[in-house]
Amino acid sequence: MSKIDLRPALSKMQPYTPGEQPPPGKYIKLNTNENPYPPPPSVVSALQAAASGPLNRYPDPTATAFRRAAANALGLPGPEWILAGNGSDEILTILVRAFVGEGQLLRLPYPSYILYRTLADIQGARWEQMPFLDGWHLPTAFGQGSDDLRLVLLPNPNSPSGTIVSRDEIEKLANTLPCPLVVDEAYADFAEFNCIDLVQKHENILVTRTLSKSYGLAGVRFGFLVAQPQLIKKLCNIKDSYNCDYLATIAATEAMNAQDWLADVVKKMNATRARMQLRLSELGFNVTPSQANFVWCQHPSGKHNEMYQYLKKQQILVRYMDFPDWGDGLRISVGTDDQVDACLMMLERFFQ
Ligand SMILES: *Cc1c(COP(=O)(O)O)cnc(C)c1O
Repeated sequence: MSKIDLRPALSKMQPYTPGEQPPPGKYIKLNTNENPYPPPPSVVSALQAAASGPLNRYPDPTATAFRRAAANALGLPGPEWILAGNGSDEILTILVRAFVGEGQLLRLPYPSYILYRTLADIQGARWEQMPFLDGWHLPTAFGQGSDDLRLVLLPNPNSPSGTIVSRDEIEKLANTLPCPLVVDEAYADFAEFNCIDLVQKHENILVTRTLSKSYGLAGVRFGFLVAQPQLIKKLCNIKDSYNCDYLATIAATEAMNAQDWLADVVKKMNATRARMQLRLSELGFNVTPSQANFVWCQHPSGKHNEMYQYLKKQQILVRYMDFPDWGDGLRISVGTDDQVDACLMMLERFFQ
């Protein structure tokens, strides 16, 4: 016992380890699914102008301008359907705090986003992970309730697999679950479909989005939740008063107004992704077809960690991931064509 012991629940927790963030310039970074391209030019000029804005004042507590722009871009009835956050990770924190009490249960698929477990641990809650079935479907049990099940989290497209669960499957889950189903759409802009409109049909479907991946704004920290207005209102009471800073809100608002830019960058990155998948298959990898801005691949040789180390020596960072009882592999972010070519060439050399 000491005077600075944390809560007992926190002594057992596994901290979440984010991807490596080395100083800029040294590596080709294909490890954290950032956008390899800079954000829309309109965002950069808005930020420059904002530097002489009212920085001595607190920002709008609910980022109204952003929520209007986002509702407009996403075809939602209005800003009251949106809660803005300091990255979608903050939104996930707010949701876990709001719904999952100490000792209660949070469910996630496996393998998926490890942070969900960490959030449950911090809350002193329990988590249960259910493995995906063949073909990346969810088991029937995933949609079944238990007395203390309070929240279900589903990345869609999923990470690390890049696979997507159909809208049909999502609606069925929402209908059978006794609690909210959070569809984490961090990568939805790269996918063929999304679930934003289902929020209007199902009060327990909540969709989270981020500006970190498709909009090229990981450094700014901005994400948001789409849910029914009566819930958004309640969640506003839980968040920090000024959770989104003035500069980030300006950048995010401008980004939502840059839908043409977004369409172009997604088209370009999805073309690179297709090329990457093809070449990785030619190199003998089992490639999971991706709907996101990264590709999950496994090689029959099993030498994933060796490949990761080899690439790192060549100044190329990818993500080596090992999921106990499931398997390991490489998750490679879609970079620029040149970055991806460099990575593919080094992998080819690895096998020579
Ligand atoms: C990257 C990522 C996020 C985090 O987004 P931020 O807005 O940067 O906090 C959330 N969920 C998944 C599945 C992600 O991969």
